[in-house]
Amino acid sequence: MSACPKCGATVGFLRASYIDITGPDQSWDGVSCACPKCDTILGVLFDPIVLKNEIAREALAQLQRRPDDGS
Ligand SMILES: [Zn+2]
Repeated sequence: MSACPKCGATVGFLRASYIDITGPDQSWDGVSCACPKCDTILGVLFDPIVLKNEIAREALAQLQRRPDDGS
């Protein structure tokens, strides 16, 4: 088990919530992970489902851009 660095509670899970991550020129879909006892955000990551879909979409676009080698 891990201990929350803010409240010291022993936590076996974190509470996840969707959160917008904004930069100067764009924003991303993110997920925050918070202590279930005191709600302190302990970490933020890019939404893994959105990230997976973006990688798949980019890989497909790259494959479709390949020049025809004539075979
Ligand atoms: Zn806590």
